[in-house]
Amino acid sequence: MGEAGGAEEVAAVVAFWRELGLPGLVDIHTHFMPPNVMAKVWEFFEEGHALGGQAWPITYRQPGEERVALLRAFGVRMFSALLYPHKPGMAEWLNSWAAGFAARTPDALHSATFFAEPGAGRYVAEAIGAGARLFKAHLQVGRYDPRDALLEPVWGVLAEAGVPVVVHCGSGPMPGPYTGPGPISEVLARHPRLTAIIAHLGAPEYGEFLGLAERYRSVYLDTAAAFTDFLEWLAPFPAALRPRLAAAADRILLGSDFPNISYPYLHQLQALARLDLGTAWLRAVCHDNAALLFGL
Ligand SMILES: [Zn+2]
Repeated sequence: MGEAGGAEEVAAVVAFWRELGLPGLVDIHTHFMPPNVMAKVWEFFEEGHALGGQAWPITYRQPGEERVALLRAFGVRMFSALLYPHKPGMAEWLNSWAAGFAARTPDALHSATFFAEPGAGRYVAEAIGAGARLFKAHLQVGRYDPRDALLEPVWGVLAEAGVPVVVHCGSGPMPGPYTGPGPISEVLARHPRLTAIIAHLGAPEYGEFLGLAERYRSVYLDTAAAFTDFLEWLAPFPAALRPRLAAAADRILLGSDFPNISYPYLHQLQALARLDLGTAWLRAVCHDNAALLFGL
């Protein structure tokens, strides 16, 4: 195949969803951030800090507008703009940038974030009032405890408003002090109506996080990096879980982690197709589930 993001990849991605009879893709795990923050994230990945010293080259380093144009060329009808703070005092500023991005990018889900800090409940409610439709909580990067009392009003307002939150709570690629199924399970026990989307299919704790989707009607999992050669090398998906993956067809949402991936976008789609779970499963995962959840 030609260069990543080139005409050949675009044609192959479009052929993928056309063959499924879909009107396009919905990708709920993509990142758009203020340029200086994105540059820091890329530096962090490429220097190997995200992966215990191993470099993680970024495939799509184009400026933001070109990355938006590329997703549109791929036929991604709706995508997200996930961003997240690594320290206190940063989330509100990120949220104001994200509101501006959403205003000029109508096919991007208005995304927002928070940190375990005083005022989080207030600014999360304000972001929802301003139109935020999806939040991101990154427990590994943020290193905060989701059970922190400061976050009680956050989970409460998200559950009450029915606004989904993508939670990076699996212990991959590197564990944090509060990653793993334990802490977020306690949050869900207290807020069983919270719409939580477990990022990266919960890798590497796939079984435990599938269990949460089986237990709670509003728990979903996104596929970002899951089943790719990269994640299969790092944290292989156990074959024994495949029947449960098939049964969870209505809870799995396409996510790609674009642009912070070390392989072409097309590979994420091929990685889903080679699971061989059938076209109905692929249609649900690549488009229909998210279209229903977000009213596309
Ligand atoms: Zn991500």
